[in-house]
Amino acid sequence: MPQPPEHPPASPALATARRAWKLLYQDSTRCIALADQALARALEDRDTLAEGWARLVRGLHLIWYSTPQTAAHELGQAEACFAALGNRPGHLLAEVGIARCLWRDAKYQESLERILPLRAEGLQVLKRDELGMLLNVIAGCYSSLGESEQAFAYMYQALHEAKPTRSNGFEVVLYCNLAHELIQLGDFHQALAYVEQGIARSHQLRNPRLLSVLLINRIICLMGLDRAPEALPDVKQLLDLPADETGRGPTNAHFETMALAALRAGDPTLGRELAARARGNCPEVDVPDEALTLVVAEAEVLRADAKLAEAAQHLQRAESMLHAADAGLSLRVRCLYHAALADACQQLGEPDRALAALREWQRCHVARGHQASRARYQAASLQTELRRLQQHLDETEARRRATEKARAELEAINQQLSQKIDEVEALKSRLERQATRDFLTGLFNRRHLNDVMPQMLAFAQREGQPLAVAIIDLDHFKSVNDRHGHVAGDTLLAAFGALLNENTRQSDVAFRFGGEEFCLLMPGSSAELAQRKVLKLLQAWRRRAFHFETGSLAANTFSAGVADSSSEAESVESLLKVADDRLLEAKRNGRNQVQSQTTPDAAPQPNVSVG
Ligand code: GH3
Ligand code: MG
Ligand code: MG
Repeated sequence: MPQPPEHPPASPALATARRAWKLLYQDSTRCIALADQALARALEDRDTLAEGWARLVRGLHLIWYSTPQTAAHELGQAEACFAALGNRPGHLLAEVGIARCLWRDAKYQESLERILPLRAEGLQVLKRDELGMLLNVIAGCYSSLGESEQAFAYMYQALHEAKPTRSNGFEVVLYCNLAHELIQLGDFHQALAYVEQGIARSHQLRNPRLLSVLLINRIICLMGLDRAPEALPDVKQLLDLPADETGRGPTNAHFETMALAALRAGDPTLGRELAARARGNCPEVDVPDEALTLVVAEAEVLRADAKLAEAAQHLQRAESMLHAADAGLSLRVRCLYHAALADACQQLGEPDRALAALREWQRCHVARGHQASRARYQAASLQTELRRLQQHLDETEARRRATEKARAELEAINQQLSQKIDEVEALKSRLERQATRDFLTGLFNRRHLNDVMPQMLAFAQREGQPLAVAIIDLDHFKSVNDRHGHVAGDTLLAAFGALLNENTRQSDVAFRFGGEEFCLLMPGSSAELAQRKVLKLLQAWRRRAFHFETGSLAANTFSAGVADSSSEAESVESLLKVADDRLLEAKRNGRNQVQSQTTPDAAPQPNVSVG
């Protein structure tokens, strides 16, 4: 039987929404255009599934190109559509998006609390990129909460799930985020390798925002590796990207990082301008890492202008940021700060302060080393944990399938068995029929008479009822065969069998005794009643005419002897003997008559009639 397709054919609106979904990372401009188009069509067609997907894509897009609140509102509507349809994958993806909005809104803990409980179902329901998106959101939360180890582990797993083959470009997001995590852990080499992979792949995509984040990460890596001059082309490329939907989007441009790179690459003019833009863009930079990086960049601008004391002062003024309870500063930026302070103090000729700053730098550096090794351990154990969870889910599924298979097999066996039983039953009754019936006349045979007659007699005697028996022998049958042939003889025998069947009561049983002899058992009939019945049969038989090629046959007769169990006969044999003796008497008396035990001569005349 052909299997039904897994998915019904997509409606036009759904097909458009799914195309938009595939373009989410590949081509942001076309993606949103298609999603808008899909939404309009879905609303027109009242196509809830397509509406869900269109809103999901729009919501995920808006996270980067609008406010998190607007995006979350759209995703909430997508979620409602999926909920109405009981579509779990869609529902989960909408939740992933909403958690991402919370993250964008700096509500990291809330985001994590929302997404973590969905992890197990996600492993079961989501595939590849979709599962990667869920793990990536968890990673993002951990990263922003300063838990780089966990972030790294989830990111790594997300990349493992979202295999680059047949990808919609999401793995570029992961290369980018993984690089960011490695940067935070101080592994600039490995981070750069991921960034380069991401940038290479992003050339096949039309996603300037993603490219901009990759470029920023490359700039940070190159600075971390003391190769700042190589970062200048990236800075220029970034500055060329427009700050709208066709470019890097209206989100943070990381001017402070670019400023620092320009300064370290030996371009103080650009550095100064970019630092000013960073400050101008957002006087109160609220992401701690960015705020402190900006302070370092501004201090370097002052140093470039030979304002050494001001530079050191500027840095020291920011020291309170390091001690705030929920500083949220990464070890990378702490290192950056302490190293800058040490440099500034040394240049100022204050070796003690420089040494103290260096000691702080060293402390952070060591901590970062520990964090990095913990992250690797964490990645390995998360992989084990998720694999175990996956294995558990797989096993449950396998068990369910095995039970189902066993049940289906059992059902098939049962069906085969009952079919066999039916066949055997049919065969048995055919054999029984063959064993008890006479083939030519369809009447019971002598063997069956031997089987049933003793029981019938015993029953009659027990009930005090008579059992009559008649033995019938066709007259001069040999001459029928002789004159008309054996086939004609058979025809007569079959016709006589049919006559017996037609003219006897339900309770009467007819047998072919052998040859042209028949026997009739009539429970509840006396010999007298039986004789009348058999006389009627004789009349009927005489009326039958047969036509053969050799001539016609009419006025056929038989002779019969009748007896019943009320006679002295007490056994089957003696009862049959009495009847047989009457038959012989009938033959002797000239045939064409029925002799009974009670009536010595009932009907020798050809036109006998019984009242
Ligand atoms: P009677 O009136 O004395 O009974 O004479 P009859 O010819 O009927 O008796 P007889 O015993 O001499 O012959 C019986 C014949 O029935 C002999 C046999 O060939 C024939 N016969 C027995 N069984 C069959 C059968 O199955 N088919 C045919 N066509 N003939 C049969
Ligand atoms: Mg005979
Ligand atoms: Mg005969």
